[in-house]
Amino acid sequence: MIAGAFFAVKTSIDKALTEAGRQPSDAALVAVSKTQTADTIRPVLAAGHRVFGENRVQEALEKWPSLRTAYRDVELHLIGPLQTNKVGDALSLFDVIETLDREKLAHAFVKAREKGASLPRLLVQVNTGAEPQKAGVLPDEVDAFIALCRDELALPVEGLMCIPPVQEEPALHFALLEKLARRNGLAVLSMGMSADFETALEFGATYVRVGSAIFGARA
Ligand SMILES: *Cc1c(COP(=O)(O)O)cnc(C)c1O
Repeated sequence: MIAGAFFAVKTSIDKALTEAGRQPSDAALVAVSKTQTADTIRPVLAAGHRVFGENRVQEALEKWPSLRTAYRDVELHLIGPLQTNKVGDALSLFDVIETLDREKLAHAFVKAREKGASLPRLLVQVNTGAEPQKAGVLPDEVDAFIALCRDELALPVEGLMCIPPVQEEPALHFALLEKLARRNGLAVLSMGMSADFETALEFGATYVRVGSAIFGARA
């Protein structure tokens, strides 16, 4: 059942890319496995998929080290907020951290690198809707934040990520994120979830983060 849903999502992604005049290799699926157990994740691994997203460091630490001994080429993305005291754990596990959202965290990455850690690929989370309760750099502050992280601190910032406001037309937010990335010469765009990944692909997403359309509704 989960494998079937996974293949259906893959097919929809390919179709949306084709309709947008893009190639199948232009975007990748991040299968969001938060709240899922190793047993529900395994069918997706068995189907050949390797890119997964988790939103909590602790939960990911409990599930992924053992799955990774069986599937060594897994690429794990952190898609939830990162506390600076969890940076060490996050660096031990994640290949991509999509939620670089404040200076304090940027400096914590610098400190970890100074101590010899190699940093994962980083995306800057943008609060495209300027929602007070949501993490992310405000659109007005994105250029300066990228200049700080990428140019001054030499962090491996590859792109941008956003989670649009629930009640708004996501296309407006995807278009804004694409514009901010292009203006800063960033190639990677993580946007689009179960409800709107096809729209995101139309607007240039290079990663779509899809959970419930694969694994079913979360409890
Ligand atoms: C949970 C989550 C997703 C996946 O959401 P679905 O609607 O289940 O596809 C994507 N991105 C982030 C940041 C999430 O926390």
